[in-house]
Amino acid sequence: MRTRPRSGRRVVVIGAGPGGLATAMLARAAGAEVTVIERGDRVGGRTAGIEQDGYVFDTGPTFFLYPEILREIFAACGRDLDIEVPMVRLDPMYRLLFEDGRRFDASADMERLKAEVARIDPADAAGVEPYFADNLRKFEAFRPILQKPFQNLGAFADPAMLKSLPMLRPWATVDSDLSRWFKNPLVRLAFSFQSKYLGMSPFKCPSLFTILAHIEYAHGVWHPIGGCNAIPRAMARVLADMGVEVRLSEAVEDMQFEGRRATGVRTAQGTYPADAVVVNADFAHAMKRLVPNRLRRRWTDERIDGKSFSCSTFMLYLGLDTTLPGLAHHTICLSREYDRNIREIEEGKAPTDPSIYVQNASVSDPTLAPPGHSALYVLVPVGNLRAGVDWQALAPSYRSMVLDRLAMFLGHDIRPHIRTERMLTPNDWEEMGIHLGATFNLAHNLGQMLHRRPRNRFEDVDGVYLTGGGTHPGSGLPTIFESARIATKLLARDIGLDASRVPESALAEAAE
Ligand SMILES: Cc1cc2nc3c(=O)[nH]c(=O)nc-3n(C[C@H](O)[C@H](O)[C@H](O)COP(=O)(O)OP(=O)(O)OC[C@H]3O[C@@H](n4cnc5c(N)ncnc54)[C@H](O)[C@@H]3O)c2cc1C
Repeated sequence: MRTRPRSGRRVVVIGAGPGGLATAMLARAAGAEVTVIERGDRVGGRTAGIEQDGYVFDTGPTFFLYPEILREIFAACGRDLDIEVPMVRLDPMYRLLFEDGRRFDASADMERLKAEVARIDPADAAGVEPYFADNLRKFEAFRPILQKPFQNLGAFADPAMLKSLPMLRPWATVDSDLSRWFKNPLVRLAFSFQSKYLGMSPFKCPSLFTILAHIEYAHGVWHPIGGCNAIPRAMARVLADMGVEVRLSEAVEDMQFEGRRATGVRTAQGTYPADAVVVNADFAHAMKRLVPNRLRRRWTDERIDGKSFSCSTFMLYLGLDTTLPGLAHHTICLSREYDRNIREIEEGKAPTDPSIYVQNASVSDPTLAPPGHSALYVLVPVGNLRAGVDWQALAPSYRSMVLDRLAMFLGHDIRPHIRTERMLTPNDWEEMGIHLGATFNLAHNLGQMLHRRPRNRFEDVDGVYLTGGGTHPGSGLPTIFESARIATKLLARDIGLDASRVPESALAEAAE
């Protein structure tokens, strides 16, 4: 095991979500004594697994994109991600089903992709190659930006940032950017589905995020065997081998301070002194409870309350006593009334004829259900809790409506095959410690990105670092792992660890 001699420096990580575990791995590799404290009874947070009656479901993430960043993190700890977490690359990556029965298979094979576009609109097929060429340029220009800490406005004076600014097109949204290449709204919809990763509408999502399509098509959509929850489980194994204690079922109740400097955390079991405290818990939820408002200059309770948060999700996890071989691994059933659907989500409502995402991972992964059975994951984007929908009252009828719509999209009713199930509403997400049940954290509009997002070296107090979907660069596993890399690099330098053990992320001196 390539771990550094212990430095005597102590790092405490609050939360064993993907960001917290990745930070713990890197901080340990850089020589720190690391303790991870997790209030849940398992690792993974929103990426944990749900095991029920012989079926395995992912709680949240099901699309694993851009494994390169995590590969580097494992390599920094002397491990090989592809051995620790066997994965398959999916092709087609996913299927879109339109309400009129048409479908679109998103294939990374350019010729097949053009044929799929031509089936919707022959005229738009010519736009496919120029669109991806443009996206590649955008991605290359922005990669260094996403890898920077954005600790202050000086980051914008960095040459890489200045070079990429013209491509940022702040006035454009994903949808309007796509209209440069595609005239048919259904084709644009097919290439804008990725903004859903951020819980955002393509009509509001900044045009920068068309790079997500590049990431999918060029680097693949991956399925870890056992589900995305296999990733945090593997990370916890590596941490155990590195001598890091992950304390489960123990909640951090507050952070301790001397003046403005954090000196450790307290739980019901005791206190944990630290040279650096890393917050992986949901940013808005954790700040309001763990750091006294009087110490927060920028991220006061009032300011947090004024921020815009992502949508939430209504979830069904269904264990079926049958297989569904005709149902793709990932299928997105798109509402005919797409604009209305988005509007209702933004208004905080429970949409009436929603789009539905279904994962039938058993078609590529037999480990998830008993032979002849399947584990179905159903996600419906809905408004977060700000508008006050009474989910407790609504949940049973909403479940029925979702299953009716699924029967319409799939051509048959799966209800007779349900052997076990679990349901999550926005209330349940909130109970898991997610502010407003907003599953994808602070919304990713331009006003809340880069230096305007909570920074990886938390700006309001000393000795606190942020990792995970609520900080820079954003929600989604690759960016979360990037946040871990940035946060650990910063804290390693601040507290005198061996920062060279943290993989490089184009961290420019000018940006700090
Ligand atoms: C339904 C859904 C679908 C998603 N789909 C995808 C996808 O397909 N692809 C993708 O890349 N991303 C997806 N995401 C987004 C993102 O990857 C996950 O949400 C991810 O798990 C967030 O990781 P995180 O590091 O921010 O921490 P979290 O997963 O939020 O974990 C934080 C941890 O902190 C713990 N904690 C909180 N408070 C305390 C406390 N006081 N003391 C101790 N511990 C505490 C929590 O229990 C939790 O375990 C999805 C998210 C959701 C919810």
